[in-house]
Amino acid sequence: MDDATHMTPDEFRRCGHALIERIARYMEEVERYPVLSQVEPGSIRERLPPAAPEHGEPFAHVLRDIDEIIVPGLTHWQSPNFFAYFPANASGPAILGDLLSSGLGVQGMLWATSPACTELETHVLDWLVGLLGLPDRFRSTAAGGGVIQDTASSSTLTALLAARERASAGAVNEHGVGSGPGRGPRLTVYTSRHAHSAIEKGVKIVGLGRDNLRLVDADAGHAMRIDALESAIAADRASGATPAMVCATVGTTSSGAVDPLRAIGEICRRENVWLHVDAAHAGSATICPEHRGLIDGVEHADSYTFNPHKWLLTNFDCNCFWVADRAALIDALSVLPEFLRNRATESGEVIDYRDWHVPLGRRFRALKLWFVVRHYGADGLRSHVRRSVELAEWFAAQVRASEEFELAAPVSVGLVCFRHREGDAFNQTLMDRLNQSGALYLTHTRLDERLVLRLAVGAPATRREHVEAAWRRIAETARGLATGHGAVS
Ligand SMILES: *Cc1c(COP(=O)(O)O)cnc(C)c1O
Repeated sequence: MDDATHMTPDEFRRCGHALIERIARYMEEVERYPVLSQVEPGSIRERLPPAAPEHGEPFAHVLRDIDEIIVPGLTHWQSPNFFAYFPANASGPAILGDLLSSGLGVQGMLWATSPACTELETHVLDWLVGLLGLPDRFRSTAAGGGVIQDTASSSTLTALLAARERASAGAVNEHGVGSGPGRGPRLTVYTSRHAHSAIEKGVKIVGLGRDNLRLVDADAGHAMRIDALESAIAADRASGATPAMVCATVGTTSSGAVDPLRAIGEICRRENVWLHVDAAHAGSATICPEHRGLIDGVEHADSYTFNPHKWLLTNFDCNCFWVADRAALIDALSVLPEFLRNRATESGEVIDYRDWHVPLGRRFRALKLWFVVRHYGADGLRSHVRRSVELAEWFAAQVRASEEFELAAPVSVGLVCFRHREGDAFNQTLMDRLNQSGALYLTHTRLDERLVLRLAVGAPATRREHVEAAWRRIAETARGLATGHGAVS
């Protein structure tokens, strides 16, 4: 049998240079592609061979297929004309940090399996506590600490596990979910009607049951109503349930609404309920002192999460999760099989991040975040956030000044919810025409029973001229539709 033909370091050098060159060219060209991929379902697979190759192929052939097959099937998240969902920032330093993480090939499940992987992560997350204006109790040098996870969904799930363990006094981990002899109380969870679907998914995964998730009513600005939260908690207590967790959102996905953290936090303190804060998108904004008001009251939080992989120039995946009391998290998740025993763990002097999230194995993700923070510096990161916020404000001003369009929610950091006054069907057609044109990409939501268009600004390449062009095209396309002549293209 022949040996596997590993890539030699010299071949790697050659292929690597070619690939870096291809990525740099992509950065230069991304603006020219239709933002939303225009391919039909199945058309990418049609161009791939039915079976895997029996013999290895030259890397140049793979690169060729990137251009011919893969790129046409991409939706270009890094395009300056990408305004859909929330941004998913990529940046040079983050790409290089990810590459280095792959190049070192480290698996950081325990401190002992690569001390630098753990200590850099702990340290950079302590840095971010300061940069983002988070409470000092989240620092690893106090009773808390931060960890990098893959997504906000995973962090929210982890918070639910810790909250479940605390509220059941350990009964669920020992005996399982549900009431009965030796089992814990029925546990309930609260979040706003406009919270992310990740909460519901988490409640299903941890086995609390959707019946025990309360979707609390929101006010006219789509933020959680305090009176509704209080009465939901009181009703559950009266029926014998134990409230386990409130998940407050700072910047909902639909409209960027901000739940009143301070008032929610005071209720959680009084009721002894775990407060988790989901600031997946808007959390990046608090690097600017002028946006710290978003997290007023966060000192009451037991856990907090945000995604540098959305708006803070760090490639997917990179989510940050902090807890105020790391013991509560570790108690909920720790197991120690014989094959993982080691002297460092037993000394109690180190962090073993396997106890801070669901998987065992973990990548060296701190590298890319460290590269980003060092490349941009806090002032560079602030400029990025400020420019997005300013451009969104500019767009909102055009909507306000127009006769045909109106704002559908208060403008949030980097996000504008708006609609044409003609109603749902018109707005749907308008959005479809715009997205089919390839010139920009927008998505929608529903607020107050009505279809609403969302313009989220935050791609690193987006400049004033792109937002101006987007507004011009939106207004012209709407005019074309209104007069029945079809979209201007
Ligand atoms: C995007 C988003 C999430 C989900 O983020 P993932 O990292 O993809 O899991 C959760 N909550 C809010 C408010 C979001 O905007």
